[in-house]
Amino acid sequence: MTVDKPHVVVVGAGIVGASIAWHLATKHNVSVTVVAPDVGGTATPNSFAWLNANFNNSRPYFDVRHRSMAHWQELINEVPGLTEIARWSGNVQWQQDEADLAFHIQQHSSWGYKTERIPNDEVLRREPWLAESSLPAWGWVASLPEEGSIEPALAAKKMIEHAQVHGAAVRRETVERLLIKDSKVSGIVTASGSITADNVILAAGLGTVPLAAAVGIAVPVNSRPGLIVHSKPVSTRLLNGLAISNGPHMRQTAEGRVISGRHYSGGKPTTDPEAEADDFFAKVKAMFRSELDGVPLPPLELDFYTVGYRPDPQDGLPILGDSGKPGLTLAVMHSGVTLAAFVGQTVADLVATGNKDKALDQFSLSRFSKE
Ligand SMILES: Cc1cc2nc3c(=O)[nH]c(=O)nc-3n(C[C@H](O)[C@H](O)[C@H](O)COP(=O)(O)OP(=O)(O)OC[C@H]3O[C@@H](n4cnc5c(N)ncnc54)[C@H](O)[C@@H]3O)c2cc1C
Repeated sequence: MTVDKPHVVVVGAGIVGASIAWHLATKHNVSVTVVAPDVGGTATPNSFAWLNANFNNSRPYFDVRHRSMAHWQELINEVPGLTEIARWSGNVQWQQDEADLAFHIQQHSSWGYKTERIPNDEVLRREPWLAESSLPAWGWVASLPEEGSIEPALAAKKMIEHAQVHGAAVRRETVERLLIKDSKVSGIVTASGSITADNVILAAGLGTVPLAAAVGIAVPVNSRPGLIVHSKPVSTRLLNGLAISNGPHMRQTAEGRVISGRHYSGGKPTTDPEAEADDFFAKVKAMFRSELDGVPLPPLELDFYTVGYRPDPQDGLPILGDSGKPGLTLAVMHSGVTLAAFVGQTVADLVATGNKDKALDQFSLSRFSKE
């Protein structure tokens, strides 16, 4: 006698939905359907995609981020096509002032994160195209060699493709609402009909909020915009790793683009985001020297910019796991690129086997009702 496998629907095909679907399809005995109008996500393609456990951390949150970085290293070896788009390049950082940076180094190294001071001249040995004038006047920065980046929308696509090789189905549709039967979520409804499921996982970024609200679940997530400017690709390696300055945050992508992000100073884009992108890109260019050993800086031209909206839970921490309604699981967060590896592994385990990783306790939706 054959027993049907449980069927799990993952709503969302950004980095988070992709990782959950990949873990379900490759590590568990369940059947998986990913439902989203795109493959690659909404916030995901507009992300800076820095893999880090670097700041704004409580100790338990740091541990999860650090664990996710370690699991990313495993995924990069397991998912075909990820080695070409991930770089564990390390980071030189002087985002904070001198006292905060010193505290940051001391705290994170005491937690087992590789973090040290390096003098400006060592930075220039590692990143020779950086202008000396862009480095901090106090003469040193933090070096964080464990950190890296990944091209996030491509990574999501690669994970979904590999999940499909392992039997996952993909439906390029928008979920209009959740199906409810006997007070339990029993599937989803799209324009072409309904799909029943033993469990529905909402990994729909900001799209999680209205879908959950329609079945009476408040998911407290704000949307926080961020600008990323992308240069045209250059063949010269202008940045070997990440450079997180007190101005632009920068890295060079796998295809040679210098990309850089910043928060909007007023919290949202101005009425002229294009002018703002031009102005910011000029600041990015000023981070580099005009020539190195007689070789001029290759022309750095703005190709395009994106304004992405972070799914930002109210207290800054992910919302993961039980929604309070049987059959419905939540996975929504900022820092989703860093966290996708951990989230994919633990949420897939939870849904497929019922085993709840202890680390998920801090991220339950129910924490908001205790306030
Ligand atoms: C400017 C910026 C910089 C960032 N920098 C970093 C960084 O350096 N490091 C880091 O770790 N994180 C960073 N983030 C955050 C990170 O990008 C996000 O946390 C992550 O991309 C969220 O991924 P996701 O898959 O949850 O959501 P998304 O990528 O938004 O994907 C949501 C998916 O759900 C689908 N969906 C939505 N509604 C429905 C519906 N009704 N039916 C079907 N499908 C639906 C969408 O189509 C999409 O496929 C940054 C974000 C921004 C905007």
